[in-house]
Amino acid sequence: MGLAGFKCPSTASEPGRHNEFNFCINECTERCQPRAVLSAIAEANIHNVHTGTMLSATALPGCARKFFLSRTRDYFECPKDLWDAGRGSLIHGVLEGQRIQGVTVEQRFYKAITRGPFAPYVLSGQCDYYDPVLRELEDFKSMEGDGLYIILRYGIKDDHILQLSVYRWLMNNGHVKPAGFTGPVTPEAVLSWPTVNLPVDSAKLNYVTMRRVFSTGTTFTFTEKTDFKSPNGPNGGKKYPGEISRVRQPYSKGKPKWDITAAIPPLQLLSYEEVADYVAMRGPNLVRGFVDDAFMPPGVMHDKDESWQCDWCGVEEICQGIEQQQTAAQQSLFSEGV
Ligand code: SF4
Ligand code: SF4
Repeated sequence: MGLAGFKCPSTASEPGRHNEFNFCINECTERCQPRAVLSAIAEANIHNVHTGTMLSATALPGCARKFFLSRTRDYFECPKDLWDAGRGSLIHGVLEGQRIQGVTVEQRFYKAITRGPFAPYVLSGQCDYYDPVLRELEDFKSMEGDGLYIILRYGIKDDHILQLSVYRWLMNNGHVKPAGFTGPVTPEAVLSWPTVNLPVDSAKLNYVTMRRVFSTGTTFTFTEKTDFKSPNGPNGGKKYPGEISRVRQPYSKGKPKWDITAAIPPLQLLSYEEVADYVAMRGPNLVRGFVDDAFMPPGVMHDKDESWQCDWCGVEEICQGIEQQQTAAQQSLFSEGV
């Protein structure tokens, strides 16, 4: 169960057709993405550790129905829609290439949740980088060029603060998988693994764009061009909330250029208690569908603050089918006067 293959994009000869990975990589004559990209996405999916009820720090705040359906049904997604998620794997090369003594990179930590409704289940999270001397953990987020402006305008996303706070919580009396372990990741197995206690005093988010990396808790200067329709500078000449100053370069050929100095505030981690409360609130809703056959987790499509997730959802077709069934069942009850 899970991502079973690729769905043809709207520009293909048969839009929406479902295909096995192997066909796309080796046989398709109208390939919509380079073979290497298709192969890398397929490979990442084959080795996806997120199966069954195992929760991840990133899944906790997401749509519960998407979590459930993507673990229990086969589904197909357009390769171009998967690139956004796969793009983050480019950072893997950076982390693999660094040679700093004593740091931990790309380490997954686990905890068994043994109390509360529908327990036991496992929660895990993979920390990109941990420095035991600075007692600091770091995470890397790839984003489009204008993503920086979103950070400067709206600040650090709540989901990212939560994610890093969960990592810290997992590193406090959490567990690491022993080398060579190949069995199922059950709560019992996790509890038998070595325990870790890695102190974390601070955390940093590194936003990676194609041009440079911006970190939380830093002040930096970057250069932006504007076009002649907006001669007063980026954002129509108005300062972004995180912006400190902007100076138009005295002379430049072509489009005007601006040196913008901005700051992203430090990331404030949630306390262990706040994380534990959040896990206790979200966890049961996410895992209930696995133990209660009659329960279909609610979706977010009618939630105006969360329905944006549906635009990036690989199981949307399945979800819509469930919605139609539920609506038909309600209408049937209504017409019977129940
Ligand atoms: S490579 Fe793209 S266009 Fe070709 S079959 Fe797969 S999804 Fe369709
Ligand atoms: S389409 Fe929306 S509501 Fe349905 S599973 Fe996907 S994210 Fe959730």
